[in-house]
Amino acid sequence: MNRQQEFVLRTIEERDVRFVRLWFTDVVGSLKSVALAPAEVESAFEEGLGFDGSSIEGLARISESDMLLQPDPSTFQILPWRGETEPTSRMFCDILTPDGEPSPADPRNVLKRTLAKAAEMGFTCYTHPEIEFYLLESDRLGPDGAPVPVDQGGYFDHVPGGVAQDFRRTVVNMLESVGISVEFSHHEGGPGQNEIDLRYADALQTADNIMTFRTVVKEVALQQGAYATFMPKPFTAHPGSGMHTHFSLFEGDSNAFHEPGAQFQLSKTARHFIAGLLKHANEFTAVTNQFVNSYKRLWGGGEAPSYLSWGHNNRSALVRVPLYKPGKNQSARVEYRGIDSATNPYLSYAVLLGAGLKGIEGEYELAPAAEDDISSLTSAERRILGHSPLPASLHDAIHTMEDSEFMAEILGEQVFEHFLRNKRQEWNEYRMEVTQYELHRNLGIL
Ligand code: GLN
Ligand code: MG
Ligand code: MG
Ligand code: MG
Repeated sequence: MNRQQEFVLRTIEERDVRFVRLWFTDVVGSLKSVALAPAEVESAFEEGLGFDGSSIEGLARISESDMLLQPDPSTFQILPWRGETEPTSRMFCDILTPDGEPSPADPRNVLKRTLAKAAEMGFTCYTHPEIEFYLLESDRLGPDGAPVPVDQGGYFDHVPGGVAQDFRRTVVNMLESVGISVEFSHHEGGPGQNEIDLRYADALQTADNIMTFRTVVKEVALQQGAYATFMPKPFTAHPGSGMHTHFSLFEGDSNAFHEPGAQFQLSKTARHFIAGLLKHANEFTAVTNQFVNSYKRLWGGGEAPSYLSWGHNNRSALVRVPLYKPGKNQSARVEYRGIDSATNPYLSYAVLLGAGLKGIEGEYELAPAAEDDISSLTSAERRILGHSPLPASLHDAIHTMEDSEFMAEILGEQVFEHFLRNKRQEWNEYRMEVTQYELHRNLGIL
């Protein structure tokens, strides 16, 4: 038993915690949870808790279904939304094979492996996500069959008496009470759309924080009689929900992305990192944008990127280098804008970081920054400037991923295969579906 594990056991006793939830995710990033009696925690630390891996999407085959959950004591938290009377807590878990080895099918392990590779190269990776989502009226659809947003606000709007104001305050307080710091929160561009930006943390902690964030947002929405969704594009006519993520690599205390006097104060390391993101973007988009619906966001306007490009302070670019603030060397960073709010954060951060590291390792060349609004260029202009398109659909993205050695290497054969199987199934279901659009177009009804 190590000190962190002892601390958890002591806290459980002192706070009279009644339930300990063990959290992990499946291959698409759905949160899974099993509640443990406090008396069982010690043996879960020591031997792991057995469960049937074949019943979890993408984890194991039936013939090798026995797996173990091992709680990570550094993630222990009391959950405030479960009330004071019977305190409930949670820990994130690593998934182990029956002989106690990290399971190659565990998404958290995929990220850990990539972080270990970064560490071998001398880097710690920090991330900060801007998470967008919609607040909808629960159980109500409009006359057109579309969901109904809780307000009609827009970007940065202060909506007097609106649900969102109160909602954001409650969410931020609750996040702070489970140790997640929030930097900004505001109304986003769409009606009922909100954004909450988490303070930077190391990439594994950020991925855990995103899972907690989604749960908190959904719980608070329920309490307030609303429904929160991270769906990438719930409305045809309004912007989608992105999860722009800012990356920086540190060598010890110094920001490896910063170089005084260089163009945009960007170091060679940062330029190679950006080149890595751009070179592998088409291969990893099936992961960062994993649903049929994700491509409605990427190709539906609303400031979502559709082409491979990078720019300094250019919001039409896929990769943006935020404006450098003099004296703020530590905050020099690179923002990836393609990723959406419905992704599996463990897998996405693994492939994004993995692509950046490849760029550094292979010293990839970076083309000049885009200065124009890429969406307003003609396709001939885009071709000349080398802005090729992101995948147009989940089908295209799967197709590109299938041939990618890079993706097989970062995800490992098992996750690579399980993920693709899940996504092929989604695409096959979708392509058989007759949609409202077709009925309207072909029958002129609705
Ligand atoms: N909602 C946009 C997207 O999907 C981003 C809008 C913004 O943050 N400026 O990426
Ligand atoms: Mg923002
Ligand atoms: Mg935003
Ligand atoms: Mg942003």
